[in-house]
Amino acid sequence: MNNPFKLLGISDDVVNAVTDLGFENPTPIQEQAIPVLLEGSNDFVGLAQTGTGKTAAFGLPLIELIDFKLNKPQALILCPTRELCLQIASDIKNYSKNISGASVVAVYGGANIMQQLREIRNGVQIVVATPGRMLDIIGRKAIDFSSVKYVVLDEADEMLNMGFQEDINEILSTTPDDKKTWLFSATMPPEVRRIAKNYMDNPTELTMGTKNTGNVNIEHEYYMVRARDKYAALKRIVDFNPEIFAVVFCKTKLDTQDVAEHLIKDGYNADALHGDLSQQQRDKVMQRFRDRNMQLLIATDVAARGIDVNNVTHVINYSLPDEIESYTHRSGRTGRAGKTGISICIINSKEVGKIRQIERIIGKQFTKAELPTGFDVCEKQLFSLIHKVNNVEVNESQIEQYIPRIMDEFGDLSKEDIIKRFASLEFNRFLEYYKNAPDLNASADDRGERGVRGERGERGSRSSEGYTRLFINLGSVDDFTRGDLLSFVCNNGKISGKNVGKIDLKGVYSFFEVENEAVDSLFNNFKGIEFNNRGVRIEKSGDAPVSSERGERRSGGGGYGGGGGRRDGGSGERRSYGGGGRREGGNSGGGFRDFSGRSRDDKAGSGRREGGSGDRRRRS
Ligand code: AMP
Repeated sequence: MNNPFKLLGISDDVVNAVTDLGFENPTPIQEQAIPVLLEGSNDFVGLAQTGTGKTAAFGLPLIELIDFKLNKPQALILCPTRELCLQIASDIKNYSKNISGASVVAVYGGANIMQQLREIRNGVQIVVATPGRMLDIIGRKAIDFSSVKYVVLDEADEMLNMGFQEDINEILSTTPDDKKTWLFSATMPPEVRRIAKNYMDNPTELTMGTKNTGNVNIEHEYYMVRARDKYAALKRIVDFNPEIFAVVFCKTKLDTQDVAEHLIKDGYNADALHGDLSQQQRDKVMQRFRDRNMQLLIATDVAARGIDVNNVTHVINYSLPDEIESYTHRSGRTGRAGKTGISICIINSKEVGKIRQIERIIGKQFTKAELPTGFDVCEKQLFSLIHKVNNVEVNESQIEQYIPRIMDEFGDLSKEDIIKRFASLEFNRFLEYYKNAPDLNASADDRGERGVRGERGERGSRSSEGYTRLFINLGSVDDFTRGDLLSFVCNNGKISGKNVGKIDLKGVYSFFEVENEAVDSLFNNFKGIEFNNRGVRIEKSGDAPVSSERGERRSGGGGYGGGGGRRDGGSGERRSYGGGGRREGGNSGGGFRDFSGRSRDDKAGSGRREGGSGDRRRRS
């Protein structure tokens, strides 16, 4: 009775349908837009990001306003891409499933036009279309728009970006003058303003979120690397996020293909999506991504338009978009439906200015993030594995028969030994891969070569002026927070908190800065200090032989059995690498990703150039 959608004015049939979809409460945009649109008497401009529930915001009022007894097109929804077109049509079919006689047709390019014409002939009230195919059908005089009361222009900025302005003009000229136009756009460049002015009469304007602002659920980060380290940086970001499910944006089809091919070769579960693929190929790629049989979708801006996949954890801008406005669309692929997401830019020092421009547009600040060290990655992967082991579902009946033999094998080992060996199995592999991994972070004044290789440099040994950066063999795995570490250092080192600068808490170790004058006394006071029966080591970060710790771990076992990750997760094993990936038997010397050593510093350089016009429009 008190269903919040009902309170907004939505009828029972539609409320029941959205309840079936799991919509319990309207999203903010729905709450604001539905009552206004239900009046049906105004033009409307809504500034809203994708993923905010925009489709239902216009779809539900549209359904309420349509006369489903009349078998003629009464609503036309135009959108930029086939993917979005199919998505909207499917959503509206779902919302109207309890209404008898309701008919929705999707009209888009790359599919059989005869089928679409047949559906139109059979009678339809809501047409969802991409502009190119719509115009084609209008040209064939196969549709009568004389009863159209509502036109929705969804993702108007995208349609203009794709060059559909003239098509839209032509299509709209075939609809009655007294129709109402509802325009939705994530950004409001002057061209969209112009449409609003030309086609609309005193529209009601709603801004969902801040104007031109990215989704509040999205955090924005940038990593600064030398141009030649971009690909290695991408891999490191992915490795540091074992559960990543990401869209990686490249500027050109060629880059997209190159990056995808390199990732695939390196054992990642990735594929490319760009305009040179046939529709069938694109559908296949998208299906794999949707089903989470693929972890990294490498895409161009155009190809990724309208991608509506929930739970994308990261958007990675492998290259920044030429048009800054496109950044909003890219980042909008994550943080959908109330989820949080991270949008990452991998840039070189010359591109910081562009980041500042984007900040102005999205009204949010970027965090400058440091690429994790190889050791950080190893640690993260290790604990991800441990976590998975802890949560794995054991198939008791299947494993039972092997238990006696396993117990036999492990009979002489303590529980601790077994755990150590088991963990080393993965950890050694990661260490092997990352043992000499260079620091990939570039500084703003980096002119290319920094020459800092190896672990010390990798750990970022530069300290703030007047401070010395120190290493300590305690970190978050010892349940330390930054505050805990500060108290520990101050209490034992007999220094004041004011003497301590930046604290960089890692896993099994951390770094902290101490004023130069306080360093000697800190070292003296720390002699013989233990934590949990373990000697505490503090060393100057620039010269500490931390490798002793690593050496021990590394020596725990040599080989890593098994090949690189499997590319195609056809059987639902979507992560082919890292902790949880499957190992393909018999392929010794492989292992975690690229163990050939060839591509640690690899750049996506080669790769085939695909033909194609590069024509951005008329994909519909
Ligand atoms: P959209 O912005 O229309 O692409 O919607 C993004 C996602 O949010 C889609 O998966 C919708 O099914 C979902 N969604 C939309 N409205 C609601 C709601 N009120 N409650 C829960 N999920 C919703």
